[in-house]
Amino acid sequence: MASMVYDEYGRPFIVLKDQQSKNRVKGVEATKSNILAARSISKLLRTSLGPKGMDKLMVSPDGDVTITNDGATIMTQMEIHHQVAKLMVELSSSQDDEIGDGTTGVVVLAGALLEQAEVLLNKGVHPVRIASGFETAAEVAIKHLEVIADRVEFSRDNLEPLLTTAKTTLSSKILQSHRDEMAQVAVQAVMNVADLDRNDVNFDMIRMEGKTGGSLKDTALVNGLVLDKEFSHPQMPTEITDAKICILTCPLEPPKPKTKHKLQITSVEAYEELYAQEQDYFRAMIQKIKDSGANLVICQWGFDDEANHLLLQQGLPAVRWVGGVEIEHIAIATGARIVARVEELSEDKLGTVGKVKQISLGTNSSRQQDRILVLEDCKNQKAVTVLVRGGNKMIVDEAKRSLHDAMCVVRNLVIDNRVVYGGGSAEVSCSLAVKKFADTVSGVDQYAIRAFGDALDDIPMALAENAGLSPIEEVAAIKSRQVKENNPRVGLGLNHIDLDAKLDLNGKRFDHSTDMKTLGVFETLIGKQQQLQLAAQVVKMILKIDDVISQGNYQ
Ligand code: ADP
Repeated sequence: MASMVYDEYGRPFIVLKDQQSKNRVKGVEATKSNILAARSISKLLRTSLGPKGMDKLMVSPDGDVTITNDGATIMTQMEIHHQVAKLMVELSSSQDDEIGDGTTGVVVLAGALLEQAEVLLNKGVHPVRIASGFETAAEVAIKHLEVIADRVEFSRDNLEPLLTTAKTTLSSKILQSHRDEMAQVAVQAVMNVADLDRNDVNFDMIRMEGKTGGSLKDTALVNGLVLDKEFSHPQMPTEITDAKICILTCPLEPPKPKTKHKLQITSVEAYEELYAQEQDYFRAMIQKIKDSGANLVICQWGFDDEANHLLLQQGLPAVRWVGGVEIEHIAIATGARIVARVEELSEDKLGTVGKVKQISLGTNSSRQQDRILVLEDCKNQKAVTVLVRGGNKMIVDEAKRSLHDAMCVVRNLVIDNRVVYGGGSAEVSCSLAVKKFADTVSGVDQYAIRAFGDALDDIPMALAENAGLSPIEEVAAIKSRQVKENNPRVGLGLNHIDLDAKLDLNGKRFDHSTDMKTLGVFETLIGKQQQLQLAAQVVKMILKIDDVISQGNYQ
């Protein structure tokens, strides 16, 4: 249907109404198309779930390559335009923000729930009934998780349970081959900043610095700060003990007038006078810094060679172009105040560090010496840095992400020491509980509740599928063993070296379905509960949309 209208200048144009209505989808059609969009995202992540999950290689518009199997990273690096698909991205990032791990699992679960919802929609169940059924089922499952959860007791002298949990997280990442050392690094880093009495962890005190070169096993925990910087002049001392640090956020050079100006110099004398004046001004600046007692300058901005030379001459080591985030970390760790003008500097604004060392790490690709600065024995003893090494930037970045996940899991355990078991065991146990509950519900909600149980089974299915096993067979085996042995810890063990021969790391034979406690595969209770809650919430949100109107095409 077309109609002719005129604009304000009297020029005619045609409005095609059919075209307008194309941008509006209503009713079940809208729900189904949203489900399709969201599921296409979760399908993509499904193959990355678990220790045998695949990695994704992503190329950014400017050619940067990222290889990862971290759900949140994959999601944020994909260019997604569909509004509902974007909800799935938000889903994994909220899991990442709150918990830090389980970012793939939450999206896979949401996808499975939507798949079940679609079946129910086709049967004619109203979306709101499906959503409310899912909500009830999620509550039942979350309560059931508390029933099957175990407490892990740990103390500063017994960190073994924390190490085991960190290892579970790392087992699906590239760090797997060095997971013992990496788990140690993650646990030590968190324990350094943890307050066990108040069950609190100050994550701000942990810095993560990546440096290309060396191998993953050179990754180490440094007590203090590591900066990817060097002293501004090669002849400055490479080690300073009892450093008094001043942090400047102004350029360390004579100030330039802010307005545009032209200076006419007509003689050599005038030029030399000006030059001497500038030098004097700068010397006065340096003297001011030295008078405050500082013996190291950390500068957010740069300074030119002339200024650099003067700094060397005056015996004041300096580091230039230190980023804003680093500056804040240095300030927290050393107790220094960030100063914006040299005139404001005084002794009480300086930070103290036991030792500042410049360390050479070999040569980088352009054959230059690669150096870092280490600030040891900071005023704030708790500050630590994880220095991640690796063959190339991609490996270093992925290692940083994996270590971050592991540290989040350890932090979660310090906050709440209850765990459930992995390998799909918790999901299967919840699925059984939810289905049992469904039998007690009369009405249409029963179908949705049972469907929630089926969706939970999708996690062990995906784990089995990704490991090249038969998903239905494995899940059936787990279920029957859980019921027969009344043991909610039976899950899919994927620690085997040889999946077909069913050999474990010690060369012993055992079944794929196994007690995950003996295998040491833990997941935090709060992480798992959060997964169920967030997935149910986002599915409810998607199911409740029945009208999609794009860009003001209302009718
Ligand atoms: P996420 O980003 O959601 O944490 P992962 O790719 O790290 O996803 O996979 C986590 C899943 O892998 C969890 O369900 C966990 O229980 C399972 N898992 C980890 N290690 C093992 C293992 N050794 N055997 C079986 N399942 C495991």
